[in-house]
Amino acid sequence: MVCPSCGSRATGQVGPEQFYCWDCCIEWQASPTGSQLFLIGEEGDLIPMEQSEEGG
Ligand SMILES: [Zn+2]
Repeated sequence: MVCPSCGSRATGQVGPEQFYCWDCCIEWQASPTGSQLFLIGEEGDLIPMEQSEEGG
């Protein structure tokens, strides 16, 4: 799995459809429509990142 944000291969799987990037320290969830990215808060909580909207 390659990080959808930075393209790094330094990633690990942390859940059924959930992955972590060691380079940019984000998690993302794979889905048929694309990847939802999450920042990781100070308390380990996941903060959804805004996706840039293209097309519709
Ligand atoms: Zn990354």
